Amino acid sequence: MTESADVVICGAGPAGWVAAIAAARQGLSVVLADRYGFPGGTAVSGYVLPISGFYYNGNRVAGDIAYEFAKRMEAAGAAIFEMPRGNVSFDPEYYRIIATRMLDEAGVTFASNVYIDGVVADDVPDGRRLSHVTVAGKSGHEAFEGKIFIDATGDGDVCAMANVPMQPDDPARQPMSLCFALAGVDTSTELLKNSIHHDGKHGPRSRNVTIREVLLADPEVGDFCGPWFNTAVSAGTIVVNITRTDCDATDRRAYAAAEKKLREDMLMLVGKLKANFREFSECSIVASAINAGIRESRRIRGRYTLTGDDFLSGQIPLCPVAACSHPVDIHAPSGAGQTVIWLDHPGYIPFGSLVADGFPNLIAAGRCISVDPTAFASIRVQGTCMTVGEAAGKAAAFCLEKGISVTEADTEGFDPGTVRSF
Ligand SMILES: Cc1cc2nc3c(=O)[nH]c(=O)nc-3n(C[C@H](O)[C@H](O)[C@H](O)COP(=O)(O)OP(=O)(O)OC[C@H]3O[C@@H](n4cnc5c(N)ncnc54)[C@H](O)[C@@H]3O)c2cc1C
Repeated sequence: MTESADVVICGAGPAGWVAAIAAARQGLSVVLADRYGFPGGTAVSGYVLPISGFYYNGNRVAGDIAYEFAKRMEAAGAAIFEMPRGNVSFDPEYYRIIATRMLDEAGVTFASNVYIDGVVADDVPDGRRLSHVTVAGKSGHEAFEGKIFIDATGDGDVCAMANVPMQPDDPARQPMSLCFALAGVDTSTELLKNSIHHDGKHGPRSRNVTIREVLLADPEVGDFCGPWFNTAVSAGTIVVNITRTDCDATDRRAYAAAEKKLREDMLMLVGKLKANFREFSECSIVASAINAGIRESRRIRGRYTLTGDDFLSGQIPLCPVAACSHPVDIHAPSGAGQTVIWLDHPGYIPFGSLVADGFPNLIAAGRCISVDPTAFASIRVQGTCMTVGEAAGKAAAFCLEKGISVTEADTEGFDPGTVRSF
């Protein structure tokens, strides 16, 4: 046993690193573990821009820590708020540095470069209680002890290892995409100047139609998406979301094959852009995601599974932890299709979607919470995952202070303060 803390947070993506700050600011000792050397998860490692879900029609729905982070990024010239739609573009290099500063200031122990590979749990009268997670890294095999654990691995790895029931496999699971950065694009032409999304200039709402039509008509082009071009703010590059493939991310062989295909597709698609559009003729790929970005994988079957109907009704549930503004945004597993349902009002996530009966000290946060595929298609965005993470970190403090299990928090009056009325 090499680390011991009140809360062990597994995964330092948007949900995990924000959960760590929330818990530490409540006075808890916090260990945050991740396989990478930086916080940010898919936002940074996957080149996934922008942070969506900050505002609903100009009213902020994202939590305070997400907002504080985005304002600090903006002050550093590394973020742009897009109003009223609520997307925040950012520079991924600044993201990891500013998030790391915030973790340091809060006193979080960031155990980076470790792979979480197991749990130690005891069967107790109220279910399965975790005592440790085990991790592997260059220092060997270690165990991190905690009183409460937050699974923010995106894929629900810790919950799966603890045998938390999972949602059924979704045959229409959203596909993976490998995003990348291009330099040397002429963004001054009519075709492109309004196509760089989320740069504060209120460009058109959706993908670039002209480029899409050319790609759709090309028999050599298979699955693709968008394309969406996003600004990386201060880096002088555009970040491109255009590749697509269906894959079960929890199957390592399938993931390896998907990643290989997506890298080949990236080269092929950039070749098509260069050949067909003079804006891209001089461009080059200057960076690509560390891993293919996973939109959808495991989710827990928690105490409450939020359905699309609940979500779209806009009803405020018991103990809401986040108000969501992103549309229900479903990418077809293959082809180039996308279904978008714009919200008439925010949708709300209940705390019951973060916990599972029989697991008294385990909280899920981020995209692995208990929601159906329709609700998932909205709640998966970063602004919402950060807000859910903030609520999860505060819930850990609430439960430890009251001496209750995490499954009792909502009925015992927990209010994360992450949902404000407007
Ligand atoms: C192609 C693509 C486009 C997207 N577009 C947008 C968009 O435009 N706007 C938006 O807001 N969102 C977008 N998203 C969604 C968003 O990026 C993710 O849903 C969000 O990052 C999920 O946050 P998370 O914290 O739950 O998980 P993640 O970001 O996946 O973070 C999980 C963290 O856990 C770590 N981890 C996982 N397993 C282990 C393990 N066993 N041991 C150690 N560490 C582990 C990972 O390294 C990572 O740091 C997109 C996603 C993809 C893939």
